[in-house]
Amino acid sequence: MAKLKLIALVIISSYAVISCAGYKNACSSQNNEKEIKNVILMIGDGMGLAHVYAAMTISPTPLNIERATVTGLQKNYSASDYITDSGASGTAMATGTKTRNRSIGVDPYGNKLKSILVISEDNGLATGLVSTSAITHATPASFVAHQTGRENYEGIALDFLKTDIDVMIGGGYKFFAKRKDNLNLIDSLKNKGYDVQTDLNGILKSNSTKLAGFTADDGNPYRLKGRRNMLPASTGKAIDILSKDKDGFFLMVEGSEIDWAAHDNHADTTIDEVFDFDQAIGVAMNFAERDGHTLVIVTCDHETGGVTITEGDRAKHTAKLEFSSEEHTAVMIPVYAFGPGAEKFTGIYDNTDIFRKIKAALGL
Ligand code: MG
Ligand code: ZN
Repeated sequence: MAKLKLIALVIISSYAVISCAGYKNACSSQNNEKEIKNVILMIGDGMGLAHVYAAMTISPTPLNIERATVTGLQKNYSASDYITDSGASGTAMATGTKTRNRSIGVDPYGNKLKSILVISEDNGLATGLVSTSAITHATPASFVAHQTGRENYEGIALDFLKTDIDVMIGGGYKFFAKRKDNLNLIDSLKNKGYDVQTDLNGILKSNSTKLAGFTADDGNPYRLKGRRNMLPASTGKAIDILSKDKDGFFLMVEGSEIDWAAHDNHADTTIDEVFDFDQAIGVAMNFAERDGHTLVIVTCDHETGGVTITEGDRAKHTAKLEFSSEEHTAVMIPVYAFGPGAEKFTGIYDNTDIFRKIKAALGL
């Protein structure tokens, strides 16, 4: 048996040598360059299948999300509830462990968990988080913080200081700057080498390799209420900075407010937030296409609003959303993948497998 395996290995490796001679570019992974160097995980909070298909119907041009070459489905029940919140589902994707609703980066017993972002950091990769919500909100927090109560935003801000994350862009300035304990975490960030910026212009102009960018005191407004291109522009900026690291990078980007609009059962805002998130997806996919060593995964943490589409017209680009809930629902949620390693994301699996698949893809 062992001998057979050895023979097979020899055949495979000699085939690789032969095929490399013919196709130089296709074999760059054999010349010290890993096939997958970078992973960009994109989470549309609350963005179920109906949200996406309504946006696809309403958009006059195809969405970037339709460029995904592989799709899968994930189950997102938490350790405490059939219907998850963003803390438990964020933690599951970030750390590979199901936890209780409202927990962030800890297991059901409160033990700290190591996230894919921190594991990436430990292995020399550059790391980043971008969100339209406060950077301390449940989804981004799941990648750096350890709290049993997700609304301890000031505690989560302190947790950010305990990591070496390279880029963070989002809202949430007040949780660093105007705290009940009077600590000035803006100074602490600067002392750790971060360029701290408080508006999008400053963020985009920064030439630091460590950047903390705050575009709002708490969450940013909806795009329809003036957020403009904060998310796609910040995604591009984060990629610019992180891609300078030759060891590769891990970046999580969240379209946080699809969820908020769906909780409000507000169809137009929900769709506009999907459009905005899709712009950020386009930025990530365009980079991945140019780079060739970047895996992009687009998913959500749970469906919000129990959304379905009860009327529509593909020629007129209309779709009528109906909401059956003001809360999250239990339905399985889609995963879309693009780039090298995308095929690993096909099938039906638990949200915790997102962590395992990304870890394996990066060879960590
Ligand atoms: Mg969120
Ligand atoms: Zn929600």
